[in-house]
Amino acid sequence: MQLIWDEFLKLIKQEAGSQIVETWFKAVSLQDWNTATGAITLKTPNQFVSKWIQEHYIELLKKHLSRLLHVNEIKIIFICSGQEAQQIRNIIPASTIQTTSNQFHITHSPIINSEPQQQSKALVKVSKKNQPNQYGNNLNENYIFENFIVGPNNSLANAAAIAVVENLGKVYNPLFIYGGTGLGKTHLMHAIGNAVKKKYPNITVCYETTDRFITEFINCIRFDKADQFRSKYQKLDLFLLDDVQFLSNKEQTQEIFFHIFNNLYEERKQIIMSSDTFPKEIAGLQSRLKSRLEWGLVADIQIPDLETKIAILNKKAEQNKMNLPNDVANFIASRVISNIRELEGALVRVSAFAALINTQITIELAQKVLLNLSNPKTENASLETVLKIAAKNFDVSILDIKAKKRHKEIAEIRQIVFYLMKKLTNCSLQVIGSFVGGRDHSTVIHAIGKVEKMCSNDLDMAKKIKRIEQEIMMN
Ligand code: ADP
Ligand code: MG
Repeated sequence: MQLIWDEFLKLIKQEAGSQIVETWFKAVSLQDWNTATGAITLKTPNQFVSKWIQEHYIELLKKHLSRLLHVNEIKIIFICSGQEAQQIRNIIPASTIQTTSNQFHITHSPIINSEPQQQSKALVKVSKKNQPNQYGNNLNENYIFENFIVGPNNSLANAAAIAVVENLGKVYNPLFIYGGTGLGKTHLMHAIGNAVKKKYPNITVCYETTDRFITEFINCIRFDKADQFRSKYQKLDLFLLDDVQFLSNKEQTQEIFFHIFNNLYEERKQIIMSSDTFPKEIAGLQSRLKSRLEWGLVADIQIPDLETKIAILNKKAEQNKMNLPNDVANFIASRVISNIRELEGALVRVSAFAALINTQITIELAQKVLLNLSNPKTENASLETVLKIAAKNFDVSILDIKAKKRHKEIAEIRQIVFYLMKKLTNCSLQVIGSFVGGRDHSTVIHAIGKVEKMCSNDLDMAKKIKRIEQEIMMN
């Protein structure tokens, strides 16, 4: 229950802002969901809060709770701690209330278009926006290094981030993190900010999204306060600007950012930026700015592999004190291809369902809940992909696999590559053999036989091959 309410709070924070959440929703709790009647019970601290939420936010409640609970019809019952139902009845129009002894019910019309795909999008949005905190540095305290899982996909960016914290302004300045959406850029930026703040409490840090930076700048120009804007940012010791691709074609903001950048850089103040693309590829960006973005270190974050995705799921489960069996983690990780935000969304849906129907999280439940999530690719893989992913997983080079080397370890890996190629591509034995260092088809047949035998004798190896297979099919 708490999990669902927390998810709801995140969504509403994003839509209505943190102040609204703090004022109206923080003190409200989700008490119960009765699956038989479809009634959700919310407990509020007093009638005023009930009334206000009913009048202003009922649509949001309706929208998000029905999606999170995956139901079409939603009935909301407000109960107030320590107060009489009679008082509430006076506030809410009679037509909307069904009273019981100390509760009032508000019945809402069915929400029909609760389409699963949309639902996952709703969850995907969860942690996108970061609201300012009380210190005005906009850092989200939940995004820290301790809960950032490091895998081969993000190890460079993570190492650079740690180095920056240790040597603020001295190495990798600017640090530029780029990578696809939902892969952890924002998390890492906040982690740096939070770690810096902890290490050097007196330092001035500011995290901004480029969107907010632009809006703030436009407002400042309107009120003739461009200088004030510039000096605010020039005073910083650490400036984190997220999603700089949105500076594209924003000439004036680029201009002011250019000056702020130069100033901070000259003063050896740390600048960290992120983008969904490599600096050179950001369209509509002045070239003098582009080149500056590359002055320090450009570190990328790639799509996580299966193990990293599983590790992330386990971490999230641990944080939420959730019991996540291995097979379920594996299933979710192989279903969600490339976006960690979606991975979290899938986990939340599975756990929310388990909580609602009061059962353990099982693979059957996960399969049911995630039924509509797109299936992993079913078309054939390419020989290159098999080779690349197998080489990576066995930590050998592609050249070694293709070479004539015969020592046992490499020979075994090569046999597995043949086996995977036959299984996952539609290439003939001849083509496979010649692709892997010009071998003939009988070698391939022999290899496949050996691997099949090996899998039936060595379960660990069989599992490992299965995981590689899944990874190949995700690519
Ligand atoms: P981006 O900024 O690249 O679009 P985010 O930083 O917003 O992505 O990450 C999306 C979600 O995935 C966040 O909730 C974040 O905490 C989570 N996440 C991303 N990478 C990791 C990771 N390596 N370990 C744990 N959580 C991660
Ligand atoms: Mg981001």
